[in-house]
Amino acid sequence: MSNNTITVIRGDGIGPDIVDATLQVLDHLNCGLSYEFAEAGLSAMENTGELLPETTLETIARNKVALKGPLMTPVGGGFKSLNVSLRQHFQLYANVRPVLSIPGTRARFEDVDIITVRENTEGMYSGAGQRVSDDERVAEAMSVITREGASRILNYAFELARKEGRKKVTVVHKANILKSTSGLFLKVAREIAETYPEIEMQEMIVDNACMQLVMNPQQFDLIVTTNLFGDILSDLCAGLVGGLGMAPGANIGDDCAIFEAVHGSAPDIAGKNIANPTAILLGACQMLDHLDQGDRARMIRQALQDVIAAGDRTTPDLGGNGGTREFTQALLDRLDQLQ
Ligand code: NAD
Repeated sequence: MSNNTITVIRGDGIGPDIVDATLQVLDHLNCGLSYEFAEAGLSAMENTGELLPETTLETIARNKVALKGPLMTPVGGGFKSLNVSLRQHFQLYANVRPVLSIPGTRARFEDVDIITVRENTEGMYSGAGQRVSDDERVAEAMSVITREGASRILNYAFELARKEGRKKVTVVHKANILKSTSGLFLKVAREIAETYPEIEMQEMIVDNACMQLVMNPQQFDLIVTTNLFGDILSDLCAGLVGGLGMAPGANIGDDCAIFEAVHGSAPDIAGKNIANPTAILLGACQMLDHLDQGDRARMIRQALQDVIAAGDRTTPDLGGNGGTREFTQALLDRLDQLQ
């Protein structure tokens, strides 16, 4: 990719701490990236009077790639979620959330390695048909699945499986009850799966998928599903590997991509130097993969695994005695040994 400038949104709460830690790691590996800083969220509101300034949208549109810290959307006042706004504005239709067991995290399972690909723009979150009757006795919302939307996410998922050498794609649905919407998604999935004969396609109803994930998560390789199911299942998957602090997410469109941690701005620990930077660092690894810098991404993942396994310099949520800065320094030290 020719453009080496990325947009960086440091975000709210713990955002600046974990984003700065991530940039330190990227710089240490000489990734050759330059950063255009932009604002969004409460910090943007304070500085510019807007939650999502036009200049921020312009820099993402220009650079095509953004690394984003968590953003706080004010509660009440009718503000639309900033993350939803960004996804819709840039048509970031694929939400890719990998989870990987890392020894030393006190997670309940070992050997979990699952990528969830969630459709990010349609389904129950399309915003269509929202209505509450005047007497508030009936509330309605419409779920919308289009053949075009289903095709693009399913194609994306099967292509990703092929690229990553994944053997099995599990299509999670509820076509037995949601016959029209989930039914169409499953029909399109069957058609697309035929064009990927080397990849096993498994169909699984969402309630069974939840049970199977908790009982035997190692059987899953890559999951693709609609918006609401993907939202819930990807958090469930994060729980399998130690919680939201370990879970990154990429929001990918045909034009732009935004990389982030799944967790929020953690206002309860902001400014205390105890935020765990792992999730956003893993998000940065997804970004490096996207920028054809897979070798560097692998080094960062290896350093994270080694430092977390050693345990002594990690943040308190991982049982360590360190802070964000100590954890970051431990990563830099480990990267020096790995290089
Ligand atoms: P949260 O994820 O911020 O925090 C939940 C709990 O996890 C807290 O106890 C927090 O201290 C802990 N935690 C989260 N990240 C951590 C980390 N990296 N290291 C150590 N501990 C960590 O969820 P919340 O409190 O429900 O939300 C706070 C704010 O974040 C809200 O304004 C919400 O809208 C926003 N939010 C933003 C995003 C995003 O920008 N992607 C996602 C979720 C929530």
